[in-house]
Amino acid sequence: MTDYRSYITSDEWRERHPDWLKEAGYRCSLFPWVKVGRKHHYAMHHLDYRNLGHETYWWDVLVLSPAAHDWLIHGLLSGWKRPHQQKHYPNLPQRLAHNWGRLPYFLKMLLVAAIFVALGAALSSNHIFGGGLGVLIFILVLWV
Ligand SMILES: [Zn+2]
Repeated sequence: MTDYRSYITSDEWRERHPDWLKEAGYRCSLFPWVKVGRKHHYAMHHLDYRNLGHETYWWDVLVLSPAAHDWLIHGLLSGWKRPHQQKHYPNLPQRLAHNWGRLPYFLKMLLVAAIFVALGAALSSNHIFGGGLGVLIFILVLWV
């Protein structure tokens, strides 16, 4: 079995990152509107440790933004516990987040856009106008 400590600090592990970042389209898997890699910080996250040393991207590992990784996956969703401190890793909320992360980029963006449109339509007395405003705000968010 591969030793986690020595593997995670190895060149072998690091050398796989560029391919995985490319596969992720240089986007955070949980917050697809956040850019990662190149000049942006990222975290290479293990969804589980079963295939340590011979991971498959989208299945065993995902690229995440530091915020999604530190504050959401290993923060809010785990009660700020590291995987080895958790009774079960991943727990149910983490599994749900992982499965969201595994969805294709365009599908996640479509769902997020739909939420903007629904919110815009619900919050405005004129639903067509509100929905259109939702689309505009979504595009603006993408721009930054
Ligand atoms: Zn992680």
